[in-house]
Amino acid sequence: MKKDDLVILNIEDMSTEGEGIGKVDGFALFVKDAVQGDVVHAKVLKLRKNYGYARLMEVLEPSPLRVEPRCPHARRCGGCQLQAMSYEAQLDFKADKVWNNLRRIGGLTELERPQIMGMEDPWRYRNKAQFPFGTDREGRIVTGFYAARSHTIIPCTECLIGVEENRPILEKILSHMEKYSIPAYDEQSGEGLLRHVLIRKGFATGELMVCLILNGRRFPAMGEMVASLCELPGMTSISVNVNMQNTNVIMGSETILVWGQAYITDTIGDIRYQISPRSFYQVNPLQTEKLYRTALEFADLKGNETVWDLYCGIGTISLFLAQKAGQVYGVEVVPEAIADARRNVALNGIGNVEFFVGKAEEVLPEKYEREGIHADVIVVDPPRKGCDEAALETMAKMQPERIVCVSCDSATLARDVKRLGELGYEVRRVRACDMFPQGVAVETVALLTKSGEA
Ligand code: SAH
Repeated sequence: MKKDDLVILNIEDMSTEGEGIGKVDGFALFVKDAVQGDVVHAKVLKLRKNYGYARLMEVLEPSPLRVEPRCPHARRCGGCQLQAMSYEAQLDFKADKVWNNLRRIGGLTELERPQIMGMEDPWRYRNKAQFPFGTDREGRIVTGFYAARSHTIIPCTECLIGVEENRPILEKILSHMEKYSIPAYDEQSGEGLLRHVLIRKGFATGELMVCLILNGRRFPAMGEMVASLCELPGMTSISVNVNMQNTNVIMGSETILVWGQAYITDTIGDIRYQISPRSFYQVNPLQTEKLYRTALEFADLKGNETVWDLYCGIGTISLFLAQKAGQVYGVEVVPEAIADARRNVALNGIGNVEFFVGKAEEVLPEKYEREGIHADVIVVDPPRKGCDEAALETMAKMQPERIVCVSCDSATLARDVKRLGELGYEVRRVRACDMFPQGVAVETVALLTKSGEA
């Protein structure tokens, strides 16, 4: 087999990244947009020693799991990897992904296949979008999404996993730029003004936030732009973020409020959260509530426990737990997030939460070894790379009744629970939650208790 060969493949399996996998004489080829059960015609793109990549040319026999993608850009866009799969099949794929990782990497050979919490309507769920702006070959200003693994913008103001308000907001900005000949930023030359537009919506409140990310400080005729954006119901916050660096990082450190409030408010369960443009906030509020309720259920609080929430962000899980706990301590490395967290504590009139800025693997050992602070329950929600060894060791030393691990990457979760297994904690329950329908990512919650105590 060599590059550009045409092959017929039976797609037998799916990779964790959502590609279909078919074999030629035992040699595996990964095919983007092919679905398990398809028979496809594919063209070999790249060959490595033990596997290769091929491009889907034609579906010869569609899999029973296959559906027509709703979005016309699904194949080119880098956002959704699973749109050609029915939603049921997507959920099966994700439950299997979590299960396989926990069995293979985590060594949990006895584990039953975890349940997964899906959405009733797996569209229009995202409360946040960041649209890049650029210029097409004809010199027109465009906005949309990056094509997979590239910075080519696919013009599209209508994303089906985003809110309907995105479209009128983007169209207003595009026509304003045309009227005043405002150039979009160009990554090659570093010239031009508008880089990205961040749009956020509070699903519970209907509040809208628009933040223009500029290679500069001023947007021409901003008064008129504001008046136009304010015609949309729910407009609450309009700001400019300054990013003059030649970088892939979307936002700069300075945000200038132009109109309204510096934040929008949203609620999850009974808790209110203020969210500023740069704060991390889960993108799927409906599923976030299910995820946090699962964490709370697994934590099984009676009312007087001391609970640690490591990697706490703006304190979303901490405040959720505080309703049922004696005392909650949150630890987070980003100081702005802790500032938001403290504001959210005040906003909700909650008295039993304290936050520490710092790394979990440094703060926890210090608080435990020097101050002897104890833990009945520890909740962790680390970034993709998982927990640091020092954090895991201290967690086990503190001998909590329960450890609840929330994770957006079941492979690193599996590695961490394996380590906790060596340190005396056993996995009792696992539940997955589909936070990103149409995409490949999946959230998982696992409950661990001391080994030997059923
Ligand atoms: N639990 C929060 C945030 C989870 S995202 C929520 O559900 O909204 C993971 C968080 O871990 C991020 O806010 C990130 O800034 C933080 N983080 C990353 N490395 C860390 C470390 N070593 N110690 C503490 N926090 C860390």
